[in-house]
Amino acid sequence: MPYRIEIDESACNGYGNCVVAAPEVFDLDPVTGIATVLAGHPDDADDAAVAEAEADCPARAIRLSRP
Ligand code: SF4
Repeated sequence: MPYRIEIDESACNGYGNCVVAAPEVFDLDPVTGIATVLAGHPDDADDAAVAEAEADCPARAIRLSRP
């Protein structure tokens, strides 16, 4: 099911756990070190990895909005 991924940039500390969990979806901005979303609406195949990234974020900076 499609859903929206948002990064709370004021909360993100650039730990990179999200990139480890879902490298197809998240990356770190090389300048700011803050996480970026490569694909705002990942395929169903990415669901588990995205959920893992959300759970693994120590800063709770990842927000998933499901319809
Ligand atoms: S795991 Fe959380 S704090 Fe770390 S880079 Fe990803 S969004 Fe930012």
